[in-house]
Amino acid sequence: MKKRVSFFTFGCRLNQAETATIENTFRASGYHVVDINSPADICVVNTCTVTKNGDADTKKMVKKIARRHPDSKIALLGCQAQAQGEALLSLPNVNWVIGNAHKMDLLEFIDQPNQNVSPIVNVDPIPQNDFTISTSSVDHNHTRANLKIQDGCDFYCLFCVIPYVRGNARSRQFDDLIREAKNLVAADFKEIVLTGVNIGCYTNEGNTFLDIVNEIEKIDGLSRLRISSIEPTTIPEDLINKMNTDSVLCRHFHIPLQSGCDTILFRMNRKYTVSDYHEFFLETYNNVKDVCLGTDVIVGYPGESDSLFDETFDFLNSLPFSYFHVFSYSERDLAKSKKLPNQISIRTIQKRSLILRKLSRHKKNEFHDKLIGNVESVLFEQKKERYWQGLTDHFVKVKVESNLDLSNELIPVQLEKINDDIMLGTVV
Ligand code: SF4
Repeated sequence: MKKRVSFFTFGCRLNQAETATIENTFRASGYHVVDINSPADICVVNTCTVTKNGDADTKKMVKKIARRHPDSKIALLGCQAQAQGEALLSLPNVNWVIGNAHKMDLLEFIDQPNQNVSPIVNVDPIPQNDFTISTSSVDHNHTRANLKIQDGCDFYCLFCVIPYVRGNARSRQFDDLIREAKNLVAADFKEIVLTGVNIGCYTNEGNTFLDIVNEIEKIDGLSRLRISSIEPTTIPEDLINKMNTDSVLCRHFHIPLQSGCDTILFRMNRKYTVSDYHEFFLETYNNVKDVCLGTDVIVGYPGESDSLFDETFDFLNSLPFSYFHVFSYSERDLAKSKKLPNQISIRTIQKRSLILRKLSRHKKNEFHDKLIGNVESVLFEQKKERYWQGLTDHFVKVKVESNLDLSNELIPVQLEKINDDIMLGTVV
């Protein structure tokens, strides 16, 4: 009988892309992939350690798996594995702890002859060289395809553990990623999402991030190319011009701001000022019709007094953001911000988080309101009750009532009204 394996991913889009690739290596080796809730011989959990919650979520998940399926062996991969290594063996049923350097080689560790005798931990240092990925990342559990183009980061923002657990910036070889983009389109993916840690820093044999966009948009049959989160100082100017043309490039930027206050940006070791961000934001907003501009913001960074928080609030309020993701500052052992004075109380962090989440809902509502009456192409993903749900190119969730199978269809929809954070529409 085929061995059964299940997968679960915490954290970012890059982790999702990597899990899809690892999953394909198991399929190619004859494993039967089952849902995480079903009994499996091996459960693979790709972890995240960006916040304390990420760490706690992994622990909860491991305990749940061990309780429900006591015979399953668990493999913990990725960032938390890299940061905590052997300590994770104290969790029930954990048999492999493999950090970022070798997580793609999980099968080799599983196949080692002594693997039934003692658990395996590997947290080797992360290699510094550019890379290729030979296994396909085709993932038919998702409608949109994540394409990994880059890994690691050299920016060393003081709150962030990514450079320590994923290493320095390195890029995927240009030909290798273009080959995979073509494979994804041939496998009927209509939308590709470029993913990585700091994708705007991409560089390989003279090719830049813009060269990737230029080359991928030439692929016949691709309808959409989306850029995932991109650092404000790394966005090539020509991207804005492209969004104005008939390019397949989605009208969507997710540009982490982190704070709307120069004092805090400086203390975070971010590489721009509020006024730099403001200038780029308005240039994009004024030049790309209905562009979606989203961001991340951290509340409660050490030293963020009430008045400095108010600066962030005022900045976010002053611009037509489409949404923001609000993160509560989370002290991490590896991050240098842990040593900064004036740490902020949890109570204050929670209060500020609520204030910004409310503002984000308001901004999203305003953005949606502006779109009422538009006819937009929607890429449909799944049916929930009577409604098919999908996304516009500017990242608006839309639902329509239909008895037809709209899965993976790109269809024009008239946007009619707002229902919580989803827009209701009719197929035209
Ligand atoms: S840019 Fe800053 S926040 Fe983003 S991954 Fe690099 S160090 Fe972390």
